[in-house]
Formats: sequence, C-alpha cells, structure tokens
Amino acid sequence: AVPAFNTLAVECLAAPDAALLPRVPGLADDLFRSDGTMTKREVRAATLAKLMPMRGALLWDIGTGSGSVAIEWMRAARSARAIGIEPRADRRAMAAENALALGAPRLDLRECSAPAALDGLPAPDAVFIGGGLSEAAFDAAWAALRPLGRLVANAVTLESEAVLLDLHARHGGDLVRLSVDRAEPVGRYHGWRAAMPVTQWSLVK
Ligand code: SAH
Repeated sequence: AVPAFNTLAVECLAAPDAALLPRVPGLADDLFRSDGTMTKREVRAATLAKLMPMRGALLWDIGTGSGSVAIEWMRAARSARAIGIEPRADRRAMAAENALALGAPRLDLRECSAPAALDGLPAPDAVFIGGGLSEAAFDAAWAALRPLGRLVANAVTLESEAVLLDLHARHGGDLVRLSVDRAEPVGRYHGWRAAMPVTQWSLVK
C-alpha cells in the first residue's frame, strides 16, 4: 500500500526525551543553560531573522551571555562563525557549555568588554548588541561592519532604550517593540504572563 503521507522516522524512533533541533532559529529556551538573562525564543527568532545568517559569515555577539544568539547564528548556516564578547566568566562558561551541547563548538568566546574589545577583531558581516550598549560600542561596530552588514541592538531597560532612540534619530533604521505574553497556570486556570517588552533597533550598512 502507498502511504498517504511521508511518515517521518521520528514517529518510530522517538524516545521519551527526544527533541527536534531545527536549524531555523527559535530553539526552545530550556535547551540553553542560563541564569535567566537570555533573549527568549520568540524575540530571539525575530533577532536572527534580521541578522540574516549566511554561509561562512561572521557575527560579533556583544554581551553574549549564555550564547543563545551566537549559537543559533552558527547553527543556521554552514560554516557560519561567531565571536562572543562577554566579561563575566560564569556566563562565558554557560555559553561554552551550550555551544558544545547544541552543535556550535567553535564559538569564539572572548573575555572582554565593548567597546574596548572590538579593536582589532576581524570585520563582521553582522553585529548583535544584546549587552554593553553604548554610542561608543555602536560606533566601533558600525565602522567595522562589512558592506551590506546587518546590525541589531535589543534593549530592555529604559536607559538602554534611550541610547537606541538617540541612535535611531541619528542613523535611521528600523525601530520595533516586541511584546510576548505566555499562557501560564493561574490556579486551576491559565492567564497571560507578559514578558518585559524588548525594543529592537536594526539597520543595514
Ligand atoms: N545576548 C544574550 C543576553 C545576555 S544579557 C542573549 O541574547 O541571550 C547581557 C550581557 O551583556 C550580560 O551577560 C553582561 O555581562 C554583558 N555585558 C554588559 N556590559 C558589557 C560590555 N560592555 N561588553 C560586553 N558585554 C557586556
């Protein structure tokens, strides 16, 4: 008999703890070890879409934290490379562990802070600023970015949002606010739990 649809091997082989790990960004949050300061799934997917991973392309992930954005960048395109800049040793350790577990072992983690850290790094095809946002960090990243390079900066605090508004006024680009609510238990029922909104600024060189 001809099967009515293409039965995936998953149906036969799925173990109780089996998980699909797609190359398209937006991996589940619980696949990463983190201390909570991590870009959540839906915002991460929207961030990667604007960063546009491509074969062989280099990302600077400034304020890499547990590495979620750099790791998804490297998974999304063959030979994609990433430098993760993170001053905190505990977070670099989590990023290294996540990179190994999720198939991006060549994530290049640097112990340093932006903007000083950016001097002398190889020119990037894309820059994500998820921490350490400042005008000086932007200026250094923008100057180093290759032609048609993409820059995305996310802000959660009012102070970093103010920096983004100022940069947007001077350089243009797209300013977007992303709000995600997730259904969570409220007693026997469910209600929407709002995550902090993320202001996202992006532009292409
Ligand atoms: N990029 C992560 C989020 C990390 S939270 C993600 O998307 O999941 C922001 C991180 O920026 C923190 O780990 C903090 O230690 C780091 N940070 C703060 N100031 C910095 C600076 N000047 N340069 C680089 N990283 C910085």
